[in-house]
Amino acid sequence: MEEYRKALTVWYDHAKRDLPWRDSHEPYQIWVSEVILQQTRIQQGTEYYHNFLRLFPDVISLANASEEEVLKAWQGLGYYSRARNMHHAAKTIQSTNNGVFPADYNSIKKLKGIGDYTAAAIASIAFGLPYAVVDGNVYRVLSRLFGIFTPIDSTAGKKEFYQLAQLMLDPGRPGDSNQALMELGAIQCLPAQPLCLGCPFSTNCYAITNQCIDSFPVKSKKTKQKERYLNFIYLHHKNKLFLEKRGDKDIWRNMFQFPMIETNAPTSPEEVMVSKAWETLFKNSSITIESVYPERIHLLTHQRLHIRFFSVKLNENSISGRLIVAEHGEISKYPVPKPVENFLLEIGH
Ligand code: SF4
Repeated sequence: MEEYRKALTVWYDHAKRDLPWRDSHEPYQIWVSEVILQQTRIQQGTEYYHNFLRLFPDVISLANASEEEVLKAWQGLGYYSRARNMHHAAKTIQSTNNGVFPADYNSIKKLKGIGDYTAAAIASIAFGLPYAVVDGNVYRVLSRLFGIFTPIDSTAGKKEFYQLAQLMLDPGRPGDSNQALMELGAIQCLPAQPLCLGCPFSTNCYAITNQCIDSFPVKSKKTKQKERYLNFIYLHHKNKLFLEKRGDKDIWRNMFQFPMIETNAPTSPEEVMVSKAWETLFKNSSITIESVYPERIHLLTHQRLHIRFFSVKLNENSISGRLIVAEHGEISKYPVPKPVENFLLEIGH
């Protein structure tokens, strides 16, 4: 293993990308970068990383922010539970450790939203502790390199890959060693068409020797996607828009949106206007849908959202008291889900 470790860190030292968080050993900054990058491309993630640190430069400022401020900073990144968990964890660090980030693996892992991966990344990069990280890139590299057919989504697979990643860890440079394996997966051992030519393992990789790169990593089950049909009622009156706050179950928790009617299948404007939700919204007034925007698809990890916006012009008497009124220009104060943000841009708000 010593040879593999050495080849990997030598490759990393000359091939790694220059990324802002690579200069940092600050646990807070490492944490922010790791959480943002969990489901986000580097380029988009970098912008959010800078902006997040500008707004909340340390644990205390994040802990003292309101939930709406944190969600607003996160708007567009998706998976909003990540932001909520960070906010919660920052409050915990503030109340239990005077705002000082914990410096041992077990205490880091106790924080809300921090699992094995993030705890190992912070512990190794910020504190030089020997904990291996295993993410999608690591699964791909190790399964191809050593020809591991154990499914990565099985308990046995998770254990086997973790043990192997631990063996690949250079105890003298655990942070760099972890980042090297992930970097190799991100820029060299790509999911489709890996760039084997420049890979430090091109002469001893199982997958390339046996010409079975596409067979790895092995997965046992396919995740099923749920189809959902979300019909947003784009309510407007002169310069005003009307919003509601989402509940705290379901996706986009506590964010703001146009009143939304969910159906089990694609729905016509006529069907929307006779639905119970429509009746609740407008009681007995004679409000009607004036136009419909084309359907757009929004993908989440396990959900495929079919989204439509129905334009409804209100008159003075039909404005429901339970809705939030946002004047033109005020809307940017509210954290809204990505499809609503895109729609607002489209209609010039
Ligand atoms: S040789 Fe190719 S398939 Fe094997 S680890 Fe390197 S990039 Fe991946």
